[in-house]
Amino acid sequence: MLEEISPAVYSYVQPDGTWFINNTGFVVGDDGVVVVDATSTEARTLAFIQAIRSVTDKPITTLINTHHHGDHTHGNYLFRDATIVGHRRCRQVMMSAGHIVDYSAAFPGVEWGALEFAPPTLTFEGSLEVYAGDLKLDLHDVGSVAHTEGDVHVWIPERGVLFAGDLVFHGGTPFALFGSVSGTIAAMDRLEAYDAAVLVPGHGPVARGAEVTAAFDDQRQYLTFVQEQAAAGISAGRTPLEQARETDLGRFATWSDSERLAGNLNVAYREAGHNPEFSIETSIGQMIEFNGGALPRCLA
Ligand SMILES: [Zn+2]
Repeated sequence: MLEEISPAVYSYVQPDGTWFINNTGFVVGDDGVVVVDATSTEARTLAFIQAIRSVTDKPITTLINTHHHGDHTHGNYLFRDATIVGHRRCRQVMMSAGHIVDYSAAFPGVEWGALEFAPPTLTFEGSLEVYAGDLKLDLHDVGSVAHTEGDVHVWIPERGVLFAGDLVFHGGTPFALFGSVSGTIAAMDRLEAYDAAVLVPGHGPVARGAEVTAAFDDQRQYLTFVQEQAAAGISAGRTPLEQARETDLGRFATWSDSERLAGNLNVAYREAGHNPEFSIETSIGQMIEFNGGALPRCLA
């Protein structure tokens, strides 16, 4: 789970990368530690902090949130002394909720712990440089809505390491319900241009070398496939849920959380101008219907 992917740069990968089981990481500088993302529950975030403490006792000075989703931000409050950095839209989305979102209806049985609401306290748009000692971390948005309205990725140019957040699900189904299918496809070009040697995705195993390119290609191909399926469904007069049921996922069927297709199709329909009644709540309901009425499998 904990791996030093470059000197003093660590990835913390939580298997199996499905719903609410995300990846994080951290960089140990001379005077302090810069962390990339918290996790979904109190217990998981405490385990992550323990993993940090297994390599350093330096203070955690900075926590970067790649986006607002609860699996990356629920544990923010456990980094009490850190400045929490996120995209301006990330904070805005969290503040518009105003509290920890209650997922117990869709994900019952998860032991969330005593979560406290802790949005980013330092926000930016465009780019921001954060230093861990002498090592520069380049924080960037992708200039548009992608996985969410406020995605941040972390590029460490000296090391060729990229923390992509949920712009990349490695071995799992991409999820554009809170963002944009076309925007996530466009983001792949931006990320690929770094020519990263090591890619830490938001979920799933770390990728290296040729796996990095393949991971970007997989996201692109799946999301392009979703757009094609949306076009087919629109011309056949089917609803997004009906089209999800018609769709043969082919090789994508082996990826985890495949019920996300129904949510992704709702977004692709909207982006094609054919889903005036789009809402996140309705789309989640359709994912559950598409999943045979079962709630998504969540192991967090
Ligand atoms: Zn996410």
